[in-house]
Amino acid sequence: MLSERLKSEIDNNLKNKKQTILFLNRRGYSTFIMCRDCGYTAKCKNCNISLTYHKFENKLKCHYCGFEMNSLNECPECKSKNIKYFGTGTQKLEDEVKKSFEGISTIRMDIDTVTKKNSHEEILNKFKNNNIDVLIGTQMIVKGHHFPNVTLVGVIAADSSLNIDDYRATERTFQTIVQAAGRAGREKEKGRVIIQTYNPDSYAIIYAKEQNYDSFYNTEIGIRNVLKYPPFCDIILIRFSGSDINEIRKSSNILYRSLKKHFTTRKWNYF
Ligand SMILES: [Zn+2]
Ligand SMILES: [Zn+2]
Repeated sequence: MLSERLKSEIDNNLKNKKQTILFLNRRGYSTFIMCRDCGYTAKCKNCNISLTYHKFENKLKCHYCGFEMNSLNECPECKSKNIKYFGTGTQKLEDEVKKSFEGISTIRMDIDTVTKKNSHEEILNKFKNNNIDVLIGTQMIVKGHHFPNVTLVGVIAADSSLNIDDYRATERTFQTIVQAAGRAGREKEKGRVIIQTYNPDSYAIIYAKEQNYDSFYNTEIGIRNVLKYPPFCDIILIRFSGSDINEIRKSSNILYRSLKKHFTTRKWNYF
């Protein structure tokens, strides 16, 4: 989770009484729960997406609809006890940092720690004023904050947003890294940014590393043009939901055909 290089840079910061920000865009403890015997994975019964393990409440949660259930120590399908928790969220990262550096002080900011009592601003002020060694957080820590004593930023899994099935994935990855990197060394002292990735050849990562907005734009806009993605087209998603699958099929198909007939110059897909 923490590369040797990042560990030694954190070490340097601890010695020099400087602060560090670690960015990971996944909250919770483990992001993927699987049975090693039958391959069962814990998914939300409403959304069919992977449930995330939250250690403190000992619950599995859906980050999409909020569904939660007790954590598993036995497979619901084959009753095997061989359940494995994969993937790293901010809770596990915080654990790992505390284990790796004795006496280190950390503070975590994600949807789970931000409450009415413990607001956004309060967490950030605590980090700044109490000189806490490491701030660990998701997306919400990367924007616009000014921390004079932060000289190191670690982007833990820069790829996590790269492989999602969305035409904006590359742009978002680029943007996030550039913004996260912008948190380091905003005063006279030079900042260091460590980007951990499995895709060092991706242009999103390369140009983010160089902070090269123009080159990123030129590459991205060329690809969008070839694939006819926005801004070269408009995408509209119309989703139907209901309890009777045949009814849904029927009515969505009626709408699909009438749209197709009406807008003949447009391309339509029906899933
Ligand atoms: Zn199983
Ligand atoms: Zn759900």
